[in-house]
Amino acid sequence: TLRAGVLAVQGDVSEHGDAIERAATAHDRTAEVVEIREAGLVPDCDVLLLPGGESTTISRLIHREGIAEEIESHVEAGKPVLATCAGLIVSATDAQDDRVDTLNVIDVSVERNAFGRQKDSFEAPLDVTGLDDSFPAVFIRAPVIDYVGEDVEVLATWDDRPVAVRDGPVVGTSFHPELTEDPRIHDLAFFDSVES
Ligand code: GLN
Repeated sequence: TLRAGVLAVQGDVSEHGDAIERAATAHDRTAEVVEIREAGLVPDCDVLLLPGGESTTISRLIHREGIAEEIESHVEAGKPVLATCAGLIVSATDAQDDRVDTLNVIDVSVERNAFGRQKDSFEAPLDVTGLDDSFPAVFIRAPVIDYVGEDVEVLATWDDRPVAVRDGPVVGTSFHPELTEDPRIHDLAFFDSVES
């Protein structure tokens, strides 16, 4: 059983739990979902999920609760993380916003709420490295990645901008893979790396 920690201080938590369980089932594995609201739980998790929500709030709470350092140690140990939307913002090197004290686990700079300003949300078929056919990506007030460090692999772009990236054990997406039934992004972030 894979112990999957879902950061649950704020944001779309239950959808990620369901998505991890779907991805596990596709691999004949089971996942135990642990909701993280306090320090002490992350060290026992095999993989972590940092969901969408409000990045200023998530950042404030993970520092207050002492969870931020534990996430950093998880990444230093080479264990997988999937960070989506606000999760990506919190994980970045730079969020271009003083209210977000970032974790520096994905070497990107992001601009909050900058994608598709015309429409707050949209869905787009994305070509993602490692996936056979396009992934239905849901963008909701999504961050734009406007700088990518040299060790960061861009897995997908939309409108000529990176929207899915990998930095070592951490996969970050501007969009919300947990809001569709398609488990392939969770799969790519967790099962491929866990099993290889
Ligand atoms: N607008 C949010 C933020 O900057 C991110 C949006 C989301 O997670 N859907 O925190």
